[in-house]
Amino acid sequence: MKLIRDPEKLQREFQKVREREKSIGFVPTMGALHEGHLSLVRTSKRDNDLTVVSIFVNPAQFGPQEDLDRYPRPIRRDLGFLRAAKVDFVFVPSARAMYPEGLVRPLRIKNAKWPRLAKGLCGKFRPGHFQGVVTIVAKLLDRVRPSRLYVGAKDYQQARVLSQLVSDLGMGVKVCVMPTVREKDGLAMSSRNRYLSKPDRLRARMFSRVLFQLRSDLKKNKASITTLKAQALRKLKPYVDRVQYLEIADPVTLRSLKRSQKKMIALGACFVGKTRLIDNVTIQINR
Ligand code: AMP
Repeated sequence: MKLIRDPEKLQREFQKVREREKSIGFVPTMGALHEGHLSLVRTSKRDNDLTVVSIFVNPAQFGPQEDLDRYPRPIRRDLGFLRAAKVDFVFVPSARAMYPEGLVRPLRIKNAKWPRLAKGLCGKFRPGHFQGVVTIVAKLLDRVRPSRLYVGAKDYQQARVLSQLVSDLGMGVKVCVMPTVREKDGLAMSSRNRYLSKPDRLRARMFSRVLFQLRSDLKKNKASITTLKAQALRKLKPYVDRVQYLEIADPVTLRSLKRSQKKMIALGACFVGKTRLIDNVTIQINR
């Protein structure tokens, strides 16, 4: 496994790889790796000649009141996992190397469609967040030029925004959205779960339960979307400290739905203690 810190070196390295016409799978992360990340790594290993993982806690995607400073950075442990997974390259740049021009979110493309997908849901509660994500991923993709980009369905809106970005820029990268990996009790794995105290961890499991119940009720067509959404909110609220949103949306446009349709997605964000959790479930109606 080759550890690279310098973006220029990364670019040179991958130019060589591309000249040999090898396929490159790319898994961007913020580190504090868990099974969710490793499932993306394994799929990339399976489907590509070479796999590169980046670890970069991207300051541009954190708001001023968010957890940038306390975000976990267990780099030695992460490198151990990646070595064991036989990853070919790990890219761990500094903030200065990625943002030599200072902290900017410059990606404005005429007629781009991604900003529409970034507006609602998390975008509403984290202003500038997706601009930060798009900026760093565009910079990384430009350096790595992978054949495939691996992202998790756990961050569903992010996956949609990035798929649209790649299409807006005509980047020719295949975006592979991989299923959410969960703890035994259903909680979606996340680097932020380690913030949860024991009692908060117990409360947190209600989040996925409510979403699974909502999916089952929608499938059975038990009541209208509005009623089922209100029911789910009522069930969730006693267990969490704040619900930012709980929406049933179209999985492609992310527009909120008033009426049931064949394919839907239920997405939510809530706080348990000071920890912000997000999760979602896709719903397919077979009628
Ligand atoms: P992060 O380090 O949180 O920025 O995540 C890096 C990548 O891993 C993103 O594409 C995430 O969607 C993905 N990911 C994070 N958690 C999970 C999970 N529980 N299951 C699947 N993918 C995940």
